[in-house]
Amino acid sequence: QAARRQYPAQAIVDLAALRDNMRHLVNVVGGPHSGTAVMGVVKADAYGHGLIPAALAALAGGATWLGTAQSHEALLLRKAGIGPDRCHILTWVYSGAEVPFDELIANDIDISVGSLAGIDGVAAAARRLGKTARVHVKVDSGFGRNGFTPATFDTALAKLVPLAKEGVLHIVGQWSHLAVADAPDVPEFVAATDQQVECFKDFTSRMEAAGIAPEIRHLANTAATLSRPEIHFELTRPGIGLYGYEADPAMGTPSTYDLKPAMTLQAQLGTVKAVEAGHGISYGRTYLTPTDTSTAIVPLGYADGIHRSASGFDMEGAKHVIKPGGPVRVMTAEGPRLYRVSGRVCMDQFMLDLHGSAESLGIHEGDTVELFGPGRGEDYAEPTADDWGRAADTISYEIFTCLRNRIPRLYE
Ligand code: PLP
Repeated sequence: QAARRQYPAQAIVDLAALRDNMRHLVNVVGGPHSGTAVMGVVKADAYGHGLIPAALAALAGGATWLGTAQSHEALLLRKAGIGPDRCHILTWVYSGAEVPFDELIANDIDISVGSLAGIDGVAAAARRLGKTARVHVKVDSGFGRNGFTPATFDTALAKLVPLAKEGVLHIVGQWSHLAVADAPDVPEFVAATDQQVECFKDFTSRMEAAGIAPEIRHLANTAATLSRPEIHFELTRPGIGLYGYEADPAMGTPSTYDLKPAMTLQAQLGTVKAVEAGHGISYGRTYLTPTDTSTAIVPLGYADGIHRSASGFDMEGAKHVIKPGGPVRVMTAEGPRLYRVSGRVCMDQFMLDLHGSAESLGIHEGDTVELFGPGRGEDYAEPTADDWGRAADTISYEIFTCLRNRIPRLYE
């Protein structure tokens, strides 16, 4: 509550929704005893939701693994008291000599290896510590990012096999990432995913032939967890699903209303005032009020992570195309109404054309407005982060992870 008074905006995170989303994902893979475990992907500060609270909620919902891209986030999880008795943690971004391999191994954190230098770095640290390092071999099955390609895999195996036999490395897993699993209705993308799966299985055969069969294979992100049960293997890695969203809606991922968006982004209205028709709003005068009206200031801008590309343009008779800005739900005397960003998003603020007199609409300075929330209001008037993704020509992932820390996260 204190934070609410101090700051003009707040992101409220529903921890029960995070827990229930994870419960749902665990059920989707067949429950806790199905032979498929679920990793809560909590990289990038849990997609902006807050690393530790989100991780704890994921564990409460039945996740037995946590995953982070950067190693410092994996270490923060252990430092917060989430010990190896509680869950496994995997970290995967390799950044040359900068990776603190010693600290990761000492803290029982599983490490992804997808390059020869990565294998050398982990092995050297394991020898220094006299402790076996747990590694997951990353293979590039068609994403074109991290991992050994089929052509380079023999060289990798030549390094991995002796290290595993010597007990320097424990090859826990084999893993890869999917490029287009969120497009189950597009035949060429389905074929591309099938091809990635075949390639992934070939890698397994080659590891088995070399005598280092991985115990745990994992490939599925949220979209594949929801739509491709045949590739759940021993572990799936949902991220966006934990936060209540289903990948990129433009790609056609099927909706499951058992997932609930966990974050609500609110702000308190600043100045509300009457302006005449033809009044230019914000930089560049890309929005001219079409009628006499009232405007309201929302005290959030691109310095908070509100995308400038979610600006709204409307200049009748001018060369600008009319483009709807990001949505904001405002409570009026007649109930909730959806407004759009009017004009350009500024650094710390943006404006709304209220299309009428604020007084008769019952809209006042200090009113709490919602940029996005669960989106399940009775009239569905509440926008979601997907709506902001559409308005800003991006995806919910970027909407969440761009939100800066000057917006306090409040947990409910
Ligand atoms: N696995 C890896 C390696 C990732 O980079 C990500 C996120 O991009 C995920 C899993 C989770 O993906 P999603 O959020 O689409 O479920």
